[in-house]
Amino acid sequence: MATAYAAEAIVLRSFRTGEADRVVHLLTPAGRVNVIAKGARKTTAKMGARLEPMTRIEAMIQPGKSDLSTITGAHVQWTGDDLRRDPIRVLAATAGIEAVVRLFPEPEADRRLFDGLARYLVAMTEPLGDDVRVGADVLTLAFVLKLLALAGWRPEVAACVGCGGTVEVFDAAAGCAYCSACGSGIPLDQTSADAVGRLIGEPLGALLELPPAQRAAIVRVCRAMAEEHGGVRLALLGLTATG
Ligand SMILES: [Zn+2]
Repeated sequence: MATAYAAEAIVLRSFRTGEADRVVHLLTPAGRVNVIAKGARKTTAKMGARLEPMTRIEAMIQPGKSDLSTITGAHVQWTGDDLRRDPIRVLAATAGIEAVVRLFPEPEADRRLFDGLARYLVAMTEPLGDDVRVGADVLTLAFVLKLLALAGWRPEVAACVGCGGTVEVFDAAAGCAYCSACGSGIPLDQTSADAVGRLIGEPLGALLELPPAQRAAIVRVCRAMAEEHGGVRLALLGLTATG
């Protein structure tokens, strides 16, 4: 049997299975790992509490014969309790985690992805501006855009790539914006395009307020890029401006 190892990990998702077990999907700096926590719902209930989604732990992992390893211990590094206390923040963070799960399905090592998710979850517990709902949404849109960029699908939206003119449409297949004379695609106005640029370029949480129409436009850009280049549907259901 392979040797057990310790790994820093963020709990992405957790499902009940069998009588008392849980299957837990973890993101580690070395990639995605799916583990089973035996008896997590009875005898070692304490361990179960450490395996709530969004918690950051140091996990002891025993590799198994199949894809599924066993988690034999967990020390909490960041509980996520401050986040889980607020349903608004939880809803938005669930959309952020969904984006990680869908955009990075392969078990590839990626320290930047791990650190980015850790930073995003911590940022979600901080003050989020005058309207928490809006702040949580904009923070999540910034995170999803940064994930797209990390995956190599950064939307180029500073200006029409054809003539340098004002942005009017976004062509997801080309991954860039055009004026309506140079190209076609989903509607994207220049102000929303500028917001996309700021959300990608500035640190997480630097921008927390955007009007509903801009948030909706950015959601459309994120969904179109994920579908076109990743072949995945991003529901982004937690976000209020999903129209
Ligand atoms: Zn043009």
